[in-house]
Parts: sequence; C-alpha cells; structure tokens
Amino acid sequence: MAPTTRPIRKLLCANRGEIAIRVFRAATELGIRTVAIFSHEDRVHLHRYKADEAYLVGKGKTPVGAYLDIDAIVALAAAHDVDAIHPGYGFLSEKSALARACAAAGIAFVGPSAEALDTFGDKTAARTLAIASGVPVVPGSDGPVPDLPAARAFAAAHGFPIIVKAAMGGGGRGMRVVRSEDELDEAFTRAASEAKAAFGDGTVFLERYVGAARHVEVQILGDRTGEVVHLFERDCSVQRRHQKVVEMAPALGLSDETRAGLHGDALRLARAVGYENAGTVEFLVDETGRHYFIEVNPRIQVEHTVTEEITGVDLVQAQIRIAGGATLHDLGLHQDAIVARGHAIQCRITTEDPRAQFRPDTGRIEAYRSASGMGIRLDGGSGYSGAVITPHYDSLLVKVTARGNTFEVARHKLLRALAEFRIRGVKTNIPFLQNVLTHPKFVAGDITTGFVDGTPELFD
Ligand code: ADP
Repeated sequence: MAPTTRPIRKLLCANRGEIAIRVFRAATELGIRTVAIFSHEDRVHLHRYKADEAYLVGKGKTPVGAYLDIDAIVALAAAHDVDAIHPGYGFLSEKSALARACAAAGIAFVGPSAEALDTFGDKTAARTLAIASGVPVVPGSDGPVPDLPAARAFAAAHGFPIIVKAAMGGGGRGMRVVRSEDELDEAFTRAASEAKAAFGDGTVFLERYVGAARHVEVQILGDRTGEVVHLFERDCSVQRRHQKVVEMAPALGLSDETRAGLHGDALRLARAVGYENAGTVEFLVDETGRHYFIEVNPRIQVEHTVTEEITGVDLVQAQIRIAGGATLHDLGLHQDAIVARGHAIQCRITTEDPRAQFRPDTGRIEAYRSASGMGIRLDGGSGYSGAVITPHYDSLLVKVTARGNTFEVARHKLLRALAEFRIRGVKTNIPFLQNVLTHPKFVAGDITTGFVDGTPELFD
C-alpha cells in the first residue's frame, strides 16, 4: 500500500526566475497557496511578487549559494506550514539530499525518489541501469575511467572521436570531444578538473562520439503505483556548446520505428526504477535512425513547454498532483488518452551578445515590449521596463513558444513574435535566434547537434 500523503495546500518553490513563476502559476490554478524564496540580490525580482508569501534566504551566502542551502530552505518551509517543495530545474532539483530532508520534515518533494535521483545523477550508474534494462547506450567505458592510461587503453580499443564526460555533469559542462590521440591527455585532464570545480566530483567516463547526431528526448510521467506514461518526444539538436537553444515537439523526420523505439525504451528505463513524477530520458539518434541512451534528467526541464503545447497536459500541475498522491489514473493520463497535436517550437531569449561570443550583458532594461497573439506563449521572469539584469544568475530572460498545426506555421509564428520584441538597455540573442530559425537547414528540419557551432554565419 502506498504511503498516505497530506493534501498539498501550500507549496514552496526552491528556485527563482521564470521556473519559480511557472510553478506558482500551476499551483495557484490548483488552489494551492504559494511561497517564494529570494536571495538578497533578488530582493526586487519578479518571482518574489508572484507568490502569496516570500522570504529572504541565504544571509551570508553567495547569490547562488542562497538557493542551495537545503537546511535553511527546509527549516523555512517547516516554519511556514509548507506541505510541498518544488525544486524547479538547476539548483537543488537533482539533489537527493533535498528529497531526503523533505521526507525527514514530513514535506512532499515534487520529484522522484531520492534513490532515483542518486541513480540518474551519476551518468555511469544510469548507463549501467540502461544496459541492464536492455536499452541501447552509446558504446563507452565500463563505468568511470580512473586515469590517463585507462583513457588511452579505451581510445586504443575504440578509436576516435571520443567524448570525455563528467559522471556528475550537467548543463553541457565537463565535456570534451577528442578527435585524435594527441588531444587526449589535455582533454581528459581538463574535463576532470572542470568537473571537480563545477560539480565537486572529478569522476569522468568515455563514450564514442556520435557524429551527425540529433538530440531527441522523451518526456515521461510516473506515479507511486508504478504506472508510467510517455508524452512523446522533443528534438533539442539546436545546441551551442552542448547547451540547448531552440527546442521543438514533435521531432521531425523520425521513422515510426525509431519513434516507437525511443518511447518504448524511455518507458522501459523508467519502469526499471519505478520512476515517480516527471522526468526526461535523453537519447542521441544517428544518421541511420539508431538511437542511444545518454542520460535521464529527473526533474522538469526548461523545454517542457513544447510538450505541454502539443499534448495539452500541464506537466507542472501533474508533478504537483502526483507528489500529493494522485495516480496517473486520477489525472486521466492513460497512454491512449495522451495525444499529440500540431507542432511547437521554443526558443530561449537570453541577455547575451551573440556578436561578442555570447558574453552576458547586464544593466537596466530601459524599454521592454514583448510579443503576444495567437499561438504564442511566454514564460518569463526578469523582462520588464526598469528591471535590472545582474551578473549573478543565468541570463535567461524569457522563453518564447509558438504553436501551429504544422512546423512551418509554428516557425513563422515564432519569427513573427521575435520581431515584435523591443528590448532596450541590454543586448539579447534575438538576432542569433532569427538567423537560426531562417537558416535553410532549420527550415528543412535537417539539424544535428553540431549545426550551431559549425555554422559561423548564425553569429553575424
Ligand atoms: P549534460 O548533462 O551536460 O546536458 P548530456 O550527456 O545530456 O550532458 O549531453 C549534452 C549534449 O552533448 C548532447 O545533447 C550532445 O549534443 C552531446 N553529447 C553527449 N554525449 C555525446 C556522444 N556520446 N556523442 C556525441 N555527442 C554527445
């Protein structure tokens, strides 16, 4: 019998910016009272005012450290009768310590179990599970690669190119492509030290580098009865330095066989751990249509919007209700009842200057006019006239999602929306996004993960 859970009447989002506001909107519509936390640097940030209550956290901490202080956040939640904590993405979202601290305080954690977070937080453990579950992985090392001689031995056996990856990595960091023997030593050493600095753990492993690949990921939802469903796939091949820039659902040009394989393997992996709540199973798809598992993101993702737009399912509300004890059956989310309609494309407007190597720009936004109209959805947090963009956090300003009956309709809507924006006072990547969306390869749906970095004219 599944444990009983107290009803969620009050929810704290342990995050900031657009995802905190997204969570508050979902909770408010469910009749749940919302609680924000904010750092000193965010004291006038919009997410604070979008919640019913807001509390300062992280006195004496760094701007980022304020959002990472598990003890302080859980204590604050307990003191204010919070029933559930939603971690958003980034920050504490993949930390099993938060899930455990919530359990100890009798607070629902809106996410998977601590055990699932531990398994999927370590990419080598996730690979091992995938192999044991019969899910194809990229040919790679058998677990972590401890030192250079071991790395050389792997390269000798597998050839080049290969990719060095941080076991605990994320956000495209701690990753190095190695094309020849003479690059190996430096890449290996650098990836390990980068991983140590960024994630506090220098463990790395190796995979064959899959060239001309597409990044296709499957959205899943699971409940405490062990039921799991998928909500189709997203294509996130438009990446700059392994970080996603434009995402779409569904993926274009997949054969029925590849698509069914992706969905089936995502479900198989989720079932292997009795996955609860929302998650994403990420794959690479090569030129021949073969797919390879790369990792699971056990949380809501930045690009969840495109899936919501084609399925009509509010993923954040589903997360909250599942954390409150609801089953997929309660939510009406039977696999056959989940249908995808049309196409959605999201792009991330950031305060970065594409003509200066994407250097983050800061300062006061002097004028801000955003887009609207049929088929356009905005998820924002820091964009308004008078807002001050600080250097302390990531530079995401607003996510723009367009929906249409066809990919071409959605693409035109997105371009139309980007052209409606007027943002003065800080530089944005809008000209770059316009170049991407009008590039013949993008128009043809012919994009692999190397597209952005290999197409210099996108930065003009
Ligand atoms: P992160 O957790 O940092 O996002 P991922 O493992 O999800 O790292 O990989 C991010 C991106 O890096 C992928 O979408 C892909 O573009 C590239 N990548 C990762 N592994 C491989 C590989 N074996 N071959 C080719 N590209 C890869």
